[in-house]
Amino acid sequence: MPLVVQKYGGTSVADADRIRHVARRIVDTYKEGENVVAVVSAMGDGTDELLALARDVSQQDHPRELDMLLTAGERITMSLLAMAIQDLGVPAMSLTGSQAGILTTGRHGHAEIVEIKAMRVREGLDEGKVVIVAGYQGVDPDTKNVTTLGRGGSDATAVALASALGAGRCEIYTDVDGVFTADPRVVEDAVKIDGITFEEMLELASAGAGVLMPRSVEFGRRFNIPIHVRSSFHDGEGTWVKEDVMEEAVVRGIAHNISEAKVTVFAVPDTPGIAASLFEPLATAGINVDMIVQNISHDGTTDISFTVPTEASHLAKAEAEAVAADVGAGGVSVDERVGKVTVVGIGMKTESGVAAQMFRVLSDAGINIQMISTSPIRISCVVDQHQVESAVRALHVGLGLEGSSS
Ligand code: ASP
Ligand code: MG
Repeated sequence: MPLVVQKYGGTSVADADRIRHVARRIVDTYKEGENVVAVVSAMGDGTDELLALARDVSQQDHPRELDMLLTAGERITMSLLAMAIQDLGVPAMSLTGSQAGILTTGRHGHAEIVEIKAMRVREGLDEGKVVIVAGYQGVDPDTKNVTTLGRGGSDATAVALASALGAGRCEIYTDVDGVFTADPRVVEDAVKIDGITFEEMLELASAGAGVLMPRSVEFGRRFNIPIHVRSSFHDGEGTWVKEDVMEEAVVRGIAHNISEAKVTVFAVPDTPGIAASLFEPLATAGINVDMIVQNISHDGTTDISFTVPTEASHLAKAEAEAVAADVGAGGVSVDERVGKVTVVGIGMKTESGVAAQMFRVLSDAGINIQMISTSPIRISCVVDQHQVESAVRALHVGLGLEGSSS
């Protein structure tokens, strides 16, 4: 029998009614003759509620216990869903990530999947059962500690399981109709994208399009698992993320992100080794540096600016200040009121002039660009946080994405 892995996000399983609705969907697929493995998220805002509860009980860091707590969210959903499916007369069994053989690194809160054994999943399928797996979690085989994969991690569980089980596709059920040309909450006439390449989706997801966790797209690309992002509320087609799509869009979509901060180190001596001595300690501290801009040197010194996730800005500032003192730089400043707007399209590989067009649109909208970075299929600009949404709206019109489903 063919096999599909379906993942249901938090809003799709937010209450008892929705869980029963999801059970019916799964049973329909099963009765059409497909084996189903369902990966579930915590109900509604369950993960946030557990996090708040932990913070209420203790202000200290408890990485092992926090992961133990957070994995409970998905376990609630998985067992309730198994009950609802059984009530519809179809055999079903739920498994925790650990029981499903999802082996990870030991880094609590950000563990990475290293291997999936999936023995009990296969056994369940062989017995004709629908198998439900708790998303977002695994186990470190060395310490036997339970781990979580980072926010949004159930997407990664689903795509990785699809590849381990040799499923033909992975369906990600969510509360929106698919991937859009921009965030529909910001751009009213954003258009659902029918097909997008792994490469483009990876850029959009990494730039803040919340609909898929970037690591899940990486798995999809690495093992060539087509991902269908679709609504759990109706049967319509969503967005296919796959290797090739028919149309090579110059601009496929826009993503934005307001949770970055800009750190600037002033008057750094312009000598070999300075960049290394600044970014090495940041890397050692586990800080994810995104954009880096170094100004042209004058008077033998230069300014270096870079962006980091807002939650890492205090640590980044402390690390940068230590280096600045060491190398005799002028000082360090942090600006948390920045945001990033990113346009992505596979056609940029061959079509020139998109960057110039983007800068013109932003300029016409009176938006100042603070930093720029590019890849062969992406252009990102850092702008004032308050102008991020107007930048997205201006670019959506100015780059011709309105009403242009691809
Ligand atoms: N429940 C987890 C979260 O809220 C994982 C997920 O939903 O993918 O991040
Ligand atoms: Mg999600």
